Amino acid sequence: MKSYRKELWFNTPQRMGFINITGEVEACLRNSGIREGLALVNAMHITASVFINDDERGLHGDFETWLEELAPHAPLSRYRHNQTGEDNGDAHLKRQIMGREVVVAITAGKLDFGPWEQIFYGEFDGRRKKRVLVKIIGE
Ligand code: ZN
Repeated sequence: MKSYRKELWFNTPQRMGFINITGEVEACLRNSGIREGLALVNAMHITASVFINDDERGLHGDFETWLEELAPHAPLSRYRHNQTGEDNGDAHLKRQIMGREVVVAITAGKLDFGPWEQIFYGEFDGRRKKRVLVKIIGE
């Protein structure tokens, strides 16, 4: 069995944002030389997500609106977590609902997606360097 590991780094200019990382994961897959197996892609931070959905601007706006309705950033006093001196109580909740990781099947050297599936990094407490782990196993 072969194994491949890579960290992808991001620094989003806004607090919240979504980045299509499908191309970077495909590059990892090519570099791994693995033809059949599984790819795990996970956020390495508890205020960011990796998820699969459509690369459609309106949908991403809908995610932002929905998440901000569920867990508004302000007032900061709304969150007990912020009593620790942090200001990212909302980001932990947003990450939880959008998920930590995805696993994608690899078939014949390709990510074996369903229709319109793309992989996204979801940032909820940005403006600093954060990373995503890509781990691919197979043969
Ligand atoms: Zn925190």
